[in-house]
Amino acid sequence: MGNAEAVVSEPGTPAVLLAQADRFQLTDRANFATILSQLHREQSRLSPAQRWHLRYLDACLASLEGNLAKEEPILRDVIEHSGDAALATRATALLITGLAIGHHYEAAFKLANTLMVDLPQVKDSNAHAQALRAIVQMLDLAGEPDQALKYAQQLDPERASPENRCANYSYKINAISWSVTLSSNDPGLRRAIAVCLADKQDVYANTLRLSRADLLSDEGHPDQAIALLKRIEPSVLRSGFQPHISGLDISLAQAYVKLGKDGDARRSALAAVAASDPKSFTWPLQTAYELLYQIEKRAGDDRAALAYYEKYVRQEKAAMDDTKTRALAFQMVRQQVLDKKLKLEALDKKNRVLELRQELASKAQETSRLYIVLLSLVLVFIGLWTVRLKQSQLRFRRMARHDGLTGVFNRQHFLQESGRILQRLQQAGAGACLVVLDLDHFKRINDTYGHAAGDEALRRAVEVCRRELRTSDLLGRLGGEEFGILMPGCSTEQGVEIATRIRRALAGALLKLGPETAVVVSASLGLAHTTASSYTFQKLISHADAALYRAKHGGRNRLAVAGAGGNAPVLVNDEVRDAVGA
Ligand code: GH3
Ligand code: MG
Ligand code: MG
Repeated sequence: MGNAEAVVSEPGTPAVLLAQADRFQLTDRANFATILSQLHREQSRLSPAQRWHLRYLDACLASLEGNLAKEEPILRDVIEHSGDAALATRATALLITGLAIGHHYEAAFKLANTLMVDLPQVKDSNAHAQALRAIVQMLDLAGEPDQALKYAQQLDPERASPENRCANYSYKINAISWSVTLSSNDPGLRRAIAVCLADKQDVYANTLRLSRADLLSDEGHPDQAIALLKRIEPSVLRSGFQPHISGLDISLAQAYVKLGKDGDARRSALAAVAASDPKSFTWPLQTAYELLYQIEKRAGDDRAALAYYEKYVRQEKAAMDDTKTRALAFQMVRQQVLDKKLKLEALDKKNRVLELRQELASKAQETSRLYIVLLSLVLVFIGLWTVRLKQSQLRFRRMARHDGLTGVFNRQHFLQESGRILQRLQQAGAGACLVVLDLDHFKRINDTYGHAAGDEALRRAVEVCRRELRTSDLLGRLGGEEFGILMPGCSTEQGVEIATRIRRALAGALLKLGPETAVVVSASLGLAHTTASSYTFQKLISHADAALYRAKHGGRNRLAVAGAGGNAPVLVNDEVRDAVGA
């Protein structure tokens, strides 16, 4: 940064200055701003193409300042009017990032989609890399890590230009880490850090080193994590990049907790809160409140603990809503794209039939009339077919996610959604309970009152369960008379409490099956918690299933909780639990 003066005094040509500005954008913001001012003073020396480049760089500066209102119109202008394909691609990629940061997900996904379509035509390697990175980022936000990885694999850091080398390495290794857990010593991670440091890309280097510190902590070396964090602290502070400043404090706090140093952990967590905008909802803020809650609880300060817990829950709920909004926006854009494609295909077919019709008419043969009739029939058929396809597509979309009888998520969607939520919870360091609920002696209902009454009983039982759940809980039908409930952010004790409420509510409810018929149907429940069973959905559900089996054999209308590793599920005895005061 100290050489800002030197650059200004150099009699650089506009082309050289523009290239320098591109290079300094992320590494030396002061220099970048200085060069931009110089270019603006010398506007008259710039060619039209160079003026568009300068406008793009103006938008970059606005983007670094987080000023979307200023950034967006400039970028849209560059995209629509510059006539420079490479620059338009770079502008699109930058706008996607800005829109996503501003939570304008639908607009961001729409642009990302056009980039995906246009990508093969982008010849400029810098623009190509920037586009790929924007796509990878959006697919991650959409909760599609596999697709994100597919695009990230196309990034070629070895052959990239110096400005792109580090960014390409970072995105690639990040995309891999969304699918598999990396080791802190992963050669790819180490190489990415080394390259970013060599290229003086401190922000990227810090992103990677912060991840590495978390990995060290997770691998049971919190002391090494703290040493690394202390080492990079000056660089993080120098960069002024706010998410890293609060992120560093959070990583420190988590490592201190692992070492049992609650005092140090509290100081770091409070620093993270101080470094964050209190009105925003961010991962560091959420984690800080969660840690502070746990620390104060251990310290016996229940009032402070409760206050932090409320803040934590608010953050968690906002994060969850944001995740849902993103996934929904992504699905909507995907659907719109599909619809458009379908319409184009139908139009294409119609045109071909019309062409044929004209050809035949010109021959004016008697037989051709027959063809015309036939072809018109084909046209009608295609029209009908398109409508049918469209209808079935809409119906399919509705059916694909929900169980037709009870209206709750179907097995497939419940599994998918749970897997996604568990992954987020793991990243955020929060736990969850999975409950498997099976109605007792349900076959008797069918045998006694008939299958239709059995269906009604299933619907009524679901209504009873739903009333006991929180809005953040997920309810799905796993099959037959068996249901799954995922309770994010729940401790084992809270999970037991909710599951017990459900069990009692069912056992105490008269389910109306007809004008004269009502029955009581109890349920057996098995509960597993992420702490004892890991975040892998398959493990959670198999442990919850084993607990359910225990509940059935313990006499039904019971709740059993899986032990560590799914071992020895224990029956919850209500009276004992109440006496303990859980
Ligand atoms: P247990 O308490 O041991 O689980 O006994 P159960 O009878 O509930 O268990 P079992 O698995 O032997 O029988 C489940 C029955 O649930 C079998 C089937 O008749 C009934 N069932 C499954 N799906 C439906 C459905 O969609 N509608 C109706 N009416 N019955 C169903
Ligand atoms: Mg049953
Ligand atoms: Mg069953």
